[in-house]
Amino acid sequence: MYRLVKKMYFITIFFKQIRYQLGIIVLIFLNLSINHNGYSQIEEKYSLKTVVIDPGHGGKDSGARGRKSKEKDIVLDISLKLGTYIEENIPDVKVIYTRTTDVFVPLDERADIANKNKADLFISIHCNGNKDARAYGTETFAMGLHKSDGNLEVAKMENSAILFEEDYTTKYEGFDPHSAESYIIFSFLQNTYLEQSLNYAAHVENEFETRALRKSRGVKQAGFLVLWKTTMPSVLVETGFITNPSEERFLMSTSGQEYIASAIYRAFKSYKSAIEAKSKFVAKVDSSRLRKDSITENEINENTTGSVKFKVQIASSSNSVPIDSDFFKGFENVEEFKINELYKYTVGSTSSFEKIVQFKKIVEEKFPDAFIIAVDESNNIIPLNEALEKLKM
Ligand SMILES: [Zn+2]
Repeated sequence: MYRLVKKMYFITIFFKQIRYQLGIIVLIFLNLSINHNGYSQIEEKYSLKTVVIDPGHGGKDSGARGRKSKEKDIVLDISLKLGTYIEENIPDVKVIYTRTTDVFVPLDERADIANKNKADLFISIHCNGNKDARAYGTETFAMGLHKSDGNLEVAKMENSAILFEEDYTTKYEGFDPHSAESYIIFSFLQNTYLEQSLNYAAHVENEFETRALRKSRGVKQAGFLVLWKTTMPSVLVETGFITNPSEERFLMSTSGQEYIASAIYRAFKSYKSAIEAKSKFVAKVDSSRLRKDSITENEINENTTGSVKFKVQIASSSNSVPIDSDFFKGFENVEEFKINELYKYTVGSTSSFEKIVQFKKIVEEKFPDAFIIAVDESNNIIPLNEALEKLKM
């Protein structure tokens, strides 16, 4: 347990609620191909192709209980509706479910399904429960450390699903879902996909509030085991409280489930088109300027200001991370950017797009999900195609 804590990285204590104001976060995978005419074509190839929909609980694990309903049944219905909307309206997206029937699926297996299928987004669907029957509304979580006891309670409730797994003490590295101390490990978590997860979560809560006319309790963070090991943007959606009689009626009704599923679907559609639009570009570089040997960090750092620069983003965090920490070991010039309550960390700084493309390959050895960003003359992050335009590539 302690070793695990040491290995993971400190990310979030004072996370402020982010809603609707997050910029579009783009994952860009650059592909370099050499043409005959001496130019290299650099193409962005990111598109959202696979989504994993995870109906919470199932089988012997009923989840939260209302007066007339069980969470496992409602979330399965909503999940299947959501998947159908995506399959019917966006046929190029592959939909994978972690379950389609009333069966028990361990939490780690759910994450495994998403990882093995190289999903681009993981959506875990749940209903909330509270001792206080007056509690109602929706909330969407990304992985992180809770900033309120209320958020911790939701995570404790959802994580207690592992108690149905016989070998949970070994599988989850000694994690006790009911012990607040167990949750400290999540304060050491370095979360590559936090920005994207929060971004999609904001889309979902926005749709719940404006289109499904639910009370949105906002975008939050807490330590959910089901999101712990996923390697893609991942959220856990609490679609409402089945312990609230009127919300339970809504969630049990076909029309209520359709409202909820279509809100999550619309959020999916807008998130997908936003990240794809932002990442669509093709740039040409002169192959003669591409070096055969690898580029060092010192060579890549131009300390001059006042011009467009490219950098490689390696991490983001809800909390400021000391740039001399072990996490960044191997890199001398780590820079921190604070944007919308998130800290972003970059290495390298050059106005040569060719150089940054080459440098990124080196950075990827330590940070496989690293991607290129651009900043303008005032050191504000700008879209890559805007930067390329400014440099007239
Ligand atoms: Zn649940």
